[in-house]
Amino acid sequence: MKKQYYIQFALLIVIVPFGLYSFKTILSRWEKNLELGKKTTEQNYLNVPFHEPSNPNTPFTAPENWPTKENRAPLDRSPKEFSSKVITLGTGTPTPNPFRNGAAHALVVNGYPYFVDCGEGWWRGLTKAVQAQKDIDLINTFKFKNLKYMFLTHLHEDHTVGLPSFINNPYKFHDGADKKVYGPEGVDEMISHINAAWEIDRHDVTQADSKRGADGATAVGVPLSENIDNNGRKIFEDENVIVEAFPTKHGALKHTYAYRFTCKPDGRIVVFGGDGTYSEGLVNASKDADLLVVEGITRKNIKYATWGGETEEEKVKTIGEYHMFPNLLKRVYNESKVKNIVLVHVQNYNDPDKFDRHDVLHEMIDEGIQNILMAEDGDIY
Ligand SMILES: [Zn+2]
Ligand SMILES: [Zn+2]
Repeated sequence: MKKQYYIQFALLIVIVPFGLYSFKTILSRWEKNLELGKKTTEQNYLNVPFHEPSNPNTPFTAPENWPTKENRAPLDRSPKEFSSKVITLGTGTPTPNPFRNGAAHALVVNGYPYFVDCGEGWWRGLTKAVQAQKDIDLINTFKFKNLKYMFLTHLHEDHTVGLPSFINNPYKFHDGADKKVYGPEGVDEMISHINAAWEIDRHDVTQADSKRGADGATAVGVPLSENIDNNGRKIFEDENVIVEAFPTKHGALKHTYAYRFTCKPDGRIVVFGGDGTYSEGLVNASKDADLLVVEGITRKNIKYATWGGETEEEKVKTIGEYHMFPNLLKRVYNESKVKNIVLVHVQNYNDPDKFDRHDVLHEMIDEGIQNILMAEDGDIY
């Protein structure tokens, strides 16, 4: 054998085992990382790099926003006897909780979605629900052609700031369903302002008519301004649902509504109460309904609220004009005889040392409301 072959042979003897050894090392590191990843997810992903805020009484640092105070995976809690399903896309409030999207819900009837409120994160909430729920075909339900009907309970920012996404994001994928947004007086102006504000973007997508989205689709607001009294009024009907609007009471806002959906295929009656305190309209909307999706706020711990005044008395007065204390939800429950309640938009102000994320739910149960659950984003009811 020539000298150069000896050298090559010697090199092979050294390199091959070293290569095999390295490959094995990489593999075992990979496996170790997988193990570590599992542990990290289960045990401390949510807590790192979380540090306990020194002042827990600001909107940013309120205990309800802490990762250590959250969270569970989305659940399907829907009754099997109904084919119609409610999906809680966003259960948050204006408090910037990073684990809850802004107020947004979908009612799915016959595989078709009707959306109620459109808070921050609406668009991403669809993905979360699609990926979390395997027993319902949400991929088809939420196909872009179906993203058409939106019902706004009121025009507060935390219920409407997702509208530019609702209108413009499907156009980015060149899908042109017309959008109809039902809501209180002013919703038509809101939608036309949104269309105008994103005109540059829409022109870029369509390269033609900036007044429209892809395929010539339009987005319009439909204001519900004709006298809707406490007896409600039918505002929408198609082959799947009848929708009635009822006035509610939410602070100084002139027009706010609860929506009562009667689902035609299974007869289920689902009410979305929106924000607000006790009102006759909400009671009438919820009469003998199967499900009321409604907000709730702590009364026991209201002194920890990050807004509404300095003293507890001031907070009770100010916040009580806007939101639903447990004793008042009990009144709605008693008077309407609604069968089930799902709490969303929960304001769980509290002492961080005594915080329990079910506190508001327990206050409601202590008031005597029996069939009540608290929702997370991506749940089904
Ligand atoms: Zn709100
Ligand atoms: Zn509001």
